[in-house]
Amino acid sequence: MNKVDSEYEIRKQICEIGNRMYDKSFVAANDGNISVRLGDKMIIVTPTGVSKGNMKPEQLVKMDIDGKVYGKNLPSSEVKMHIEVYNQNPKLRAVCHAHPPISTAFAVAGIALDKPILAEAVVLLGVVPVAKYATPGTEEVPNSIKEYVNNHNAVLLANHGLLTWGETLEQAWFRMESTEHYGKILLYVKQIGPAREFNRQQLDELIKIKHRIDGTTEDSSTSDIDISNLSDYQIEELIKAVTQKVLDKL
Ligand SMILES: [Zn+2]
Repeated sequence: MNKVDSEYEIRKQICEIGNRMYDKSFVAANDGNISVRLGDKMIIVTPTGVSKGNMKPEQLVKMDIDGKVYGKNLPSSEVKMHIEVYNQNPKLRAVCHAHPPISTAFAVAGIALDKPILAEAVVLLGVVPVAKYATPGTEEVPNSIKEYVNNHNAVLLANHGLLTWGETLEQAWFRMESTEHYGKILLYVKQIGPAREFNRQQLDELIKIKHRIDGTTEDSSTSDIDISNLSDYQIEELIKAVTQKVLDKL
């Protein structure tokens, strides 16, 4: 799945991700929507009122990011939040939205997925914040997510569901799967007992891995801090700061 894929190839890929979304029970009935950027100004998006489990490439809607629709099918009523993602960051080329049960439960409870407990979640996903509630289909929705697009990979929509994006459709979809998986583990941990979060050194190691993956240089500004004299509160604040540094690099 890359920029040079033909329009028909992109349509088939969206149908495939729709099937996976439906098979995993991330959506019910006609819930959810998926889009992929085609060139700079056009997108292919799922139509309104169609189950994601049985879509045909011809049903998908082609439109530009100014809102002009080509063809007779109407786009998802949530397409405005997809367009907001594309407007906020030209590098992003795919957006997925669904109501995965556990992520949505966190969204309903207003609890962000922000515990540094899983290496993959820290390095590849980062914190998943909760955007404030917005009535579905209104202009409030794009406004509620815009502040998160450039510094996160996924966002919980309060009392609604989950939104992810990526440079490819596969990346946006994997971020959706990973968020739900991370949420499931966090839910189990809440039932079993308190989570043992990463300490600063462990997070530093994760940052190094992240740098190796990205091929970026290491910023050692947090590595010289002697934590032996810090209070638990200060260490906790430091871990939050380091976690944020990881996220800033994502
Ligand atoms: Zn929704």
